[in-house]
Amino acid sequence: MPSANPQSPPYTVAVLGGGIAGLSLAIGLQRHGVPFHLYESAHAFAEVGAGVGFGPNSIRAMQLLDPRIRESYDRLATGNSDRKGTWLEFRMGCDWRSGTDWKGNDARSNGMVKGDVDGEERPTRIQVGDKITELNTTVDGKPFGQSSVHRAAFLDELVALIPKQKVSFNHRVVAIDDLGAEGVRIRFEHGETATADAAVGCDGIKSRVRRIVLGEDNPAAHPSFTGKYAYRGLVPMDQAVALLGDGLARNSVMYTGYHGHVITMPIEHGATMNVVAFRTKPDGKWEDERWVLPTRKEDMRADFKGFGPSVRDILSLVQTPDLWALFDYPPAETYFKGRVCLLGDAAHASTPHQGSGAGMAIEDAFVLSNLLGKVDDAREIETAFQAFDRIRRPRTQKLVTTSKEAGELWDLEAAGIGDDMEKFRADVQVRMDWIWDVDLEGQLREGKKGVF
Ligand SMILES: Cc1cc2nc3c(=O)[nH]c(=O)nc-3n(C[C@H](O)[C@H](O)[C@H](O)COP(=O)(O)OP(=O)(O)OC[C@H]3O[C@@H](n4cnc5c(N)ncnc54)[C@H](O)[C@@H]3O)c2cc1C
Repeated sequence: MPSANPQSPPYTVAVLGGGIAGLSLAIGLQRHGVPFHLYESAHAFAEVGAGVGFGPNSIRAMQLLDPRIRESYDRLATGNSDRKGTWLEFRMGCDWRSGTDWKGNDARSNGMVKGDVDGEERPTRIQVGDKITELNTTVDGKPFGQSSVHRAAFLDELVALIPKQKVSFNHRVVAIDDLGAEGVRIRFEHGETATADAAVGCDGIKSRVRRIVLGEDNPAAHPSFTGKYAYRGLVPMDQAVALLGDGLARNSVMYTGYHGHVITMPIEHGATMNVVAFRTKPDGKWEDERWVLPTRKEDMRADFKGFGPSVRDILSLVQTPDLWALFDYPPAETYFKGRVCLLGDAAHASTPHQGSGAGMAIEDAFVLSNLLGKVDDAREIETAFQAFDRIRRPRTQKLVTTSKEAGELWDLEAAGIGDDMEKFRADVQVRMDWIWDVDLEGQLREGKKGVF
C-alpha cells in the first residue's frame, strides 16, 4: 500500500471496517493527507434502515472533522417540527405504581415531563410538572434539540467523500501480524494479506481487532449482554399523525415505563417516524447466537401489554420490527497495542440509551486523524496512538457506564430513583451535559501537549 502523494507523510494506515467510525476516520485521514486504505468485510457499505440521533457534541465533531460532513448532515437531518429546542419530551407510558403527584394514566392524558413548546428561541429544557430545567444546549449559538438522520442516507454521504480506489470490500480481517519497525501485516479470511505501517480497528461490536489488541483470553475483549433488548421499526408519518396527532408524531418523545420505554422521533424530513421500544429481559441472559432477530408485531405488542394506549397504538403501526439484543464492551485497559489501535464501537461499544455511540466515533475520528496528521515518521505512530488512548479512553468509557445507567433510569429501575419523578428530573437535567458540552479542540490540544 504505497503512499499516494509524494507530499504525504511516508507511512500508510489501514482502516479496518467501514461503518460510521471507519468512514469518519478515513475522511479525517484524507483531510490531513495521511495515506490510507479501508478494508470492509461486506460486499458493500451498508447501514440498518433506522434513525440515528446526534447531540451537539457530534455535530461540532462533524464540522471539525470535515465541514462537508456537517453540510451533508444539515441537509439530511430532521428535528422536532415545533419544539426545536427540545431533546426529548418525557411522558409516562403506563400507569404509575407509587403514589406521587404525577400519577399518570396514559401519555395522551397526562404528560409528565414536557419539553419546550416555544420553538427556536429557548434552550433545550425538560419540565416535570411545573418545574422547568434548562439544559442550555447550543450549536453555533443556537438552541439545539433532537436531531437525527436515516442511517443509510448518512452513510451514503460519508461514502461519497472517499475515493473508490481507497476501499476494498469482501476483506474480512482475521489476524494481524506485528512486523516491528515494518508495521503490520493484515490477514484476511480469503487468504490475501496487506501491509501497512499501522492499522485501526473500526470493526464494531463484534470486533476481531479488539481481540487481537486485548488478547483472546481477556474478558474485556468480548461483548457482554446488558440485560435489555429493543424493537426497531419505521412508521410512515401520515399513519403516525392520524393516530397520535401532529404534536406527538412530529416531535421526539420518550414514553417511560416499568422495565421498558419507547422512543419516537421524526426522520427523513418528517416523512417517517422512527420507533425504538426497549425492554428489560427478566433473566438478564442472551443465549441466541444471533443478536438481531426478525419478530412478529403481535409478539412485540404482547411484550408491552402492561403499557398504556399510546404505546400500544404506536407499536401497532410498526409493521416488521426487528429485535436487537443490546450488548456493550467491558472497559478496555488500553485502546492500542504497538501499531494497532481501536476506534468507535470496537473500542467502546455502549448501549444506545444516551444516543451517543456513533457521535463518540466521530469525535474519535477527529482526534485520531489530527494526531496522525502530526506524525511525519512511522516510528511516531505509537506516540499518536498513546495520546489518543490517553485523552479518549476516559471519556468514551464513561459513556459506556452512564449509558447503561440511563437505560435503568428510563426503565424506572435506577437505584435510589425508581419512579420518583423529582429524582428522575434531577438526574436527567445533568445527565447529558458532559456529553454535549465537550471542548473537542481543547481535548486535542491536551493530547498533543508535550508530544507533537
Ligand atoms: C438500537 C440502537 C440505537 C442506536 N442509536 C444511536 C443514536 O441514536 N445515536 C448514536 O450516536 N449512536 C446510536 N447507536 C450506536 C451506534 O449505532 C454505534 O455506536 C455506531 O453505529 C458504531 O459505528 P462503528 O462504525 O464503530 O461500528 P459498525 O457500525 O458496527 O461498523 C463496523 C464495520 O466493520 C465491518 N467489519 C466487521 N468485522 C470486520 C472484519 N473482521 N474485517 C473487516 N470489516 C469488518 C462491518 O461490516 C461494519 O461495516 C445505537 C445503537 C443501537 C444498537
